[in-house]
Amino acid sequence: MLTGKIYDIQGFSVQDGPGIRTTVFLKGCPLRCPWCHSPESQLFPTELNWMQVRCLGTDACGKCLDVCPKGAISIGESTTNAMGEPITYPDVDKTVCDDCGACAKACKATALYMCGEDKTVDEVMHRLLRDQPFFEESGGGVTVSGGECLCQPEFTLELLKRCKEAGMHTAVDTTGFVKWEVIEKVLPYTDLFLYDLKCMDSALHKQVIGVPNELILENAEKIVKAGGKIQVRIPTIPMFNESQEHFVKYGEFLSKIKEGIDTVQLLPYHKLGVSKHQRLMKKEKIFVAEPPSDQLMQARKKQLEAYGLTVTIH
Ligand code: SF4
Ligand code: SF4
Repeated sequence: MLTGKIYDIQGFSVQDGPGIRTTVFLKGCPLRCPWCHSPESQLFPTELNWMQVRCLGTDACGKCLDVCPKGAISIGESTTNAMGEPITYPDVDKTVCDDCGACAKACKATALYMCGEDKTVDEVMHRLLRDQPFFEESGGGVTVSGGECLCQPEFTLELLKRCKEAGMHTAVDTTGFVKWEVIEKVLPYTDLFLYDLKCMDSALHKQVIGVPNELILENAEKIVKAGGKIQVRIPTIPMFNESQEHFVKYGEFLSKIKEGIDTVQLLPYHKLGVSKHQRLMKKEKIFVAEPPSDQLMQARKKQLEAYGLTVTIH
């Protein structure tokens, strides 16, 4: 049976397209944005996470210490909890852990939990149909997001078809870094693409995110040519793409596909990904910077509006 690897389904979302929406988040992404606000979405397999605030500590609980078949869990160094009390937490060696989930099962406090679950289209539809009255009231619908949801093309296509059969508005939140043949198949069942344009300089795109941008720009042009609607999303990242010169490149490119652009949304960098990164217990450092100022965001908004685009700041 066709299943998708899903890491969350969020109802009452007002940020992923028009009206009140339910967003289905699929796991796995070919890009590696250092500022990613959902780093748990990047890898395809189900992964172990740990939320410190829920953990009772190894003295009071310690149930996870004895269950790991790989011996990946030990007692960590003494520290203090949020109340300033001394505590020791478990230390998970992610280089040894194979994400079997035994410790998450043993953790009654759900401090350890698995992220990513295989669900059938029927199971997801059951959830979405429950929310349909809210879509109808608000002009909302379903958004399929990620990760990169189009990296699970059969599941996403089937889900979109079923949503359209049920009369729902559909949006696909995509990086655009997928084969055109995949986009072409979902296009008839997608009312709106939420389309990330992270950087206009391909060499910089590859250096920072791991892949070049030509395919992304090409697919945006093809969607518009095929009659699709796009809401462009520009994560505005300090020291990366926030400069006036960079936004000239955005303006010039977007002018060429203006007829297919619904709106341009500027997404100022924020630090929400940092705590989620910590939950994955990875040793690599995450990119951290100060968010761009309101003044800078307003200036970039005006800059794109001068190209005749409708621009909002998220
Ligand atoms: S998920 Fe990892 S740490 Fe937990 S029991 Fe399995 S191997 Fe050990
Ligand atoms: S079982 Fe859960 S709550 Fe208990 S020490 Fe381990 S992670 Fe913390």
